[in-house]
Amino acid sequence: MGDACKSKVCNPPAPEASPVVKEKLAELVLDNDKLKKYIEIFTDNINRGLKKSTNPTSIVKCFPTYVQDLPNGTEEGKFLALDLGGTNFRVLLVELHGDQCEMKSKIFAIPQSIMTGSGEQLFDHIAECLATFCKEEGLEGEVLPLGFTFSFPLVQKGLTVGVLERWTKGFKCSGVVGNDVVQLLEQAISRRGDTKIDVCAILNDTTGTLMSCAWKNHDCAIGLIIGTGSNSCYVEKQANAELFDEPDMGSGEVLVNTEWGAFGDDGALDFCRTDYDKEIDKNSINPGYQVHEKMISGMYMGELVRLVIVKLIEDGVLFGGKGSDLINERDRFYTKYVSEIESDAPGSFENARQICEELGLKHAVDQDYVNLRYCCEVVSRRSAHLVSAGLVTLLHKMGKPVVTVGIDGSVYRFHPTVHDVMMEKMTELCDPSIKFNLMLSEDGSGRGAALVAAVAARKKDNSAP
Ligand code: BGC
Ligand code: MG
Repeated sequence: MGDACKSKVCNPPAPEASPVVKEKLAELVLDNDKLKKYIEIFTDNINRGLKKSTNPTSIVKCFPTYVQDLPNGTEEGKFLALDLGGTNFRVLLVELHGDQCEMKSKIFAIPQSIMTGSGEQLFDHIAECLATFCKEEGLEGEVLPLGFTFSFPLVQKGLTVGVLERWTKGFKCSGVVGNDVVQLLEQAISRRGDTKIDVCAILNDTTGTLMSCAWKNHDCAIGLIIGTGSNSCYVEKQANAELFDEPDMGSGEVLVNTEWGAFGDDGALDFCRTDYDKEIDKNSINPGYQVHEKMISGMYMGELVRLVIVKLIEDGVLFGGKGSDLINERDRFYTKYVSEIESDAPGSFENARQICEELGLKHAVDQDYVNLRYCCEVVSRRSAHLVSAGLVTLLHKMGKPVVTVGIDGSVYRFHPTVHDVMMEKMTELCDPSIKFNLMLSEDGSGRGAALVAAVAARKKDNSAP
């Protein structure tokens, strides 16, 4: 045993993917030159989004959120929150009291038919779920303030006005784009007539995530989601956010929702896209849109890996060139498989074996499991690298010496190495004078929504004569 092994149990080196597989997947590996190029282009995209003169033609929209103050830990009250646009639709009751936050929530399903039906159906469904929740919680008589976490691109004209720019992820309800979703919600609630609410804020999930993290961590200045979709928001100087037409009320800052999922919709990312990405886009509900998001987020990650696997099978270098009906089925390789396969201890194939069995790939041999893991790794690492480059762009742009990034989303939560890969890559790419920290932000969509509503209420009180 060599010196290095004396104090630790010496694991055998992890088995390596076949050279031919590595070579075929090389295009999915982004080196630092590519990532630096990304940072350069993305910086320009952010600046174009912020400026009044270039925003209309900018792909990255940088919407001002009307959230100007971060929580200070003294927020109080009882709030309802709605969370639409992630893995689940939820209704929440949030109680803030000093540094305590209590939450009750209920998940409701949104059937596929509603996700792609009419807007009226969608908002009637939301109102029904809200009414059910209020009944179950005995809240019927009360008029509670509500924060609406609506995780789609919104043009905000105030804290309670949000006009939908486009649907993303799996949603495509008619009659909503171009309309104020707060009004659509209020109309649906009054159609029922059995619930009373006061919508105090509409917000993006990145905003909720930032607020939720900032509640206890005062360095938090970026909110990030790597979940079904991907997006970020950050604290910008009010003077730079030219679309934000409000008088400076003190903080001199405003949260900007980058909507970075759209980055690349004009071809800006073509230098690092692959045929797999194009295939994903072609088969999606919104071809041509959300190019960056499709390279990163959980809604597409499993399918990207599946396309890679199918190609390697076709090329005869995986599973002995023999596939299965299930592996050929679109969306049948779930994103959670990626996390599971990468969670196997190196050299053990427990999860990989079970997943292959589930997919009818019973003929797999050990080297196939190693190669399969490599397919997952290149796709998840590319996602983490793109997010890292995006965050470094924002860190450089802000120039703050110390920043915590509040993060939520199923991929960040459940993938075993995304956090570490991000730490490593950001350290390589970021100006060393900036200290950053990546932190899981619990329940931005609930607590964050309540905090936005509470901070808004505090501000109203302070400005009352
Ligand atoms: C939406 C963003 C959202 C992100 C994460 C994207 O598809 O456009 O508004 O923040 O998903 O949920
Ligand atoms: Mg969510």
